[in-house]
Amino acid sequence: MSEAQIRFSIFLGALILMSALEALFPAKARTQSRARRWSTNLGLVVIDTLTIRVLFPVIAVGAALWADSRGWGILNALTLPMWVKVSLAVVILDMLIYWQHVAFHKVPVFWRLHKVHHADRDLDASSGLRFHPAEIVLSMIYKMAAVVLLGAPVLAVIIFEIILNACAIFNHANVRLPRWLERSLRLVIVTPALHRIHHSVREVETNSNFGFSVIWWDRIFGSFTPHPKGQLTLGLNEYQNDAPSGLIWSLLTPFRKAKSSD
Ligand SMILES: [Zn+2]
Repeated sequence: MSEAQIRFSIFLGALILMSALEALFPAKARTQSRARRWSTNLGLVVIDTLTIRVLFPVIAVGAALWADSRGWGILNALTLPMWVKVSLAVVILDMLIYWQHVAFHKVPVFWRLHKVHHADRDLDASSGLRFHPAEIVLSMIYKMAAVVLLGAPVLAVIIFEIILNACAIFNHANVRLPRWLERSLRLVIVTPALHRIHHSVREVETNSNFGFSVIWWDRIFGSFTPHPKGQLTLGLNEYQNDAPSGLIWSLLTPFRKAKSSD
């Protein structure tokens, strides 16, 4: 199997597994039509993938190969065992993605794009794939720059992308984990219950729990919220209607004036 096939299999496996668990152990009742939401969220994945393919002949893995062949980047200048370099690179890339997520919330022009992701009024595994193509393009540029500056090994980039993707599908899933599992998992990773708080309509809650995989960054940088303040309503206050589950709405909203968009 090629690297792309392995990644696609893990992606599909995670999506199917989490969707099955959602059917068995749902955490929250749905408010929107699943067919409409899923076609929009999956439609965005297709558009995102095509956009990336057209704009970037090489993706993050290619950037790692390129930096390696030129001896560019911090890690390429250090003499360390390969496994140390790979582990360091995976951890640092994960932290940089945490900061990217914070920036997508705090910088107004980035928030316009990222709010398409937050407008989803139900959360499930498919929400982990719901991103505006322009956000995906900006993330890819940021990721490639980080990979080159860091001199991240190719293996680290592949591991990192697989972890990020699988975690995004996992932590958006509409599942309720058994108490004992939730309690032990959240000491290390971002559980669906923790990430759901990030999708609350309450702004203080949205501006917390930015991590995708490990919970350390939110703990270290002071953005951790363990429990919501009362009943959770998901999405954004200004879009508590059917609009966000539409594909055209999702593509056009960043370019419309705030509030007048539906
Ligand atoms: Zn967010």
